[in-house]
Amino acid sequence: MARELTHFIDGAHVKGTSGRFADVYNPATGEVQAKVPLASAAEVDAAVRNAAAAQPAWAAQNPQRRARVLLEFVRLLHRDMDKLAEALSREHGKTIPDAKGDVIRGLEVAEYCIGAPQLLKGEYTDGAGPGIDMYSMRQPLGVAAGITPFNFPAMIPMWKFCPAIACGNSFILKPSERDPSVPLMLAELMIEAGLPKGVLNVVNGDKEAVDAILDHEGISGVGFVGSTSIAHYVYSRGTAAGKRVQCFGGAKNHMIVMPDADLDQAVDALIGAGYGAAGERCMAISVAVPVGEETADRLMEKLAPRVEKLKIAPYTDGNDADFGPLVTREAQARVMGLINKGVEEGAKLVVDGRGFKMQGYENGFFVGACLFDHVTPEMDIYKTEIFGPVLSTVRADSYETALKLAMDHEYGNGTAIFTRDGDTARDFVNRVNVGMVGVNVPIPVPLAYHTFGGWKKSVFGDLNQHGPDAFRFYTRTKTVTSRWPSGIKEGAEFSIPTMK
Ligand code: NAD
Repeated sequence: MARELTHFIDGAHVKGTSGRFADVYNPATGEVQAKVPLASAAEVDAAVRNAAAAQPAWAAQNPQRRARVLLEFVRLLHRDMDKLAEALSREHGKTIPDAKGDVIRGLEVAEYCIGAPQLLKGEYTDGAGPGIDMYSMRQPLGVAAGITPFNFPAMIPMWKFCPAIACGNSFILKPSERDPSVPLMLAELMIEAGLPKGVLNVVNGDKEAVDAILDHEGISGVGFVGSTSIAHYVYSRGTAAGKRVQCFGGAKNHMIVMPDADLDQAVDALIGAGYGAAGERCMAISVAVPVGEETADRLMEKLAPRVEKLKIAPYTDGNDADFGPLVTREAQARVMGLINKGVEEGAKLVVDGRGFKMQGYENGFFVGACLFDHVTPEMDIYKTEIFGPVLSTVRADSYETALKLAMDHEYGNGTAIFTRDGDTARDFVNRVNVGMVGVNVPIPVPLAYHTFGGWKKSVFGDLNQHGPDAFRFYTRTKTVTSRWPSGIKEGAEFSIPTMK
């Protein structure tokens, strides 16, 4: 019998009461291993009231005390790393080393947030006028919420709740219904680390819970990560309800390979960035753009045999697998449909993984690695985010054509250039309209103390995730002008004060 998962409210696991559930699969076997409750608007409301009640006392603690909870949380994440990685792989399907990376990239944001006392320091002008001082404070929003995707079930929830909580907010996390166990475990660990009950709550659910969050008057800020159409929807509905909202969406990341690039390095990069986590990463490279026919021919010659040799396996098969299954049967069918479409559209399928079957795991959601050549910008496989182990190659006749491809694509999350020429790299970095750029680095995911965010249709909103922007997003500024001690002894002023 499938386990029944819970919500996590007021520091405890709480059973769902809506009567609605979603199946949580083991993607390697295709079996349903748990069912997750889908919250009703009434359940969301109860969680928000609880979070609102807990928030003032949490905000009143000095920032150093709040930071100490995160310090302890980091220690507990290390203690439970194996357990977390196993739970993550069991629901997501990624390999154990990759699952640990998922936890660590979240943990690093928790580490950054330990610096909250420094990051929350305001601005102060001594003597802004005669006897007048002026200062700006950063105050929490109140209750904030995070709606997160399936592909990083540890990292992205931590990107959301660590800075929000460090700033003195309480938080409602609505994780993906595909892999909700790790978010629940993270909430347990925060309580063990000393977080007061009610400050971090996990409400599982689908569109109904999301809509309830977006409409709820008690929530002041919402952070979202997921596909672009939902990101746009969440941004529109949340801002219409007067909330501060930041939404991070889909991607189609191009890697430009110049004729002077070290092709062995470029091939290594494309293999890891294109096929790692079965391509289910918003920073995956999904388009290779070799510049010049000769570069393209040499690249394909080296790339194809490497793609053929990729080892696909369930996470239980040891640590030498390159990637595992996709997250659901629907994802598998969608990716297979797009590969078929690419063939119909006339792209050349150089490595065809469609027939891949994992022995002993025939019902798992596996798709073999695919490599396309001669993809063109009109094709669906070029325009759409595939989110599977499929790399498309678009041949460009010049650097300018390659740059234009990346610039004309509707998404602008990440991109990379491989070259030995500093001048070309510099030009690319300056001109490309993409938020995160790698020079001889295929997945330029910024570290915790920089900020993460794309451009164009990869984002709705104006501040990035983690780094200093997160502290701006989860606080609002209050600016105080104070005059001591002269008061109004010289009489009231009736015209607006100016710098005379
Ligand atoms: P998704 O959009 O299906 O789901 C994201 C969240 O939205 C989930 O919590 C889900 O329950 C909720 N949701 C789904 N349908 C909804 C609806 N109709 N109304 C309201 N809420 C809804 O995304 P996913 O499949 O979980 O994740 C993959 C996507 O996320 C990819 O497009 C990937 O590029 C993107 N992503 C982006 C970033 C980034 O930082 N830009 C990072 C990771 C993933």
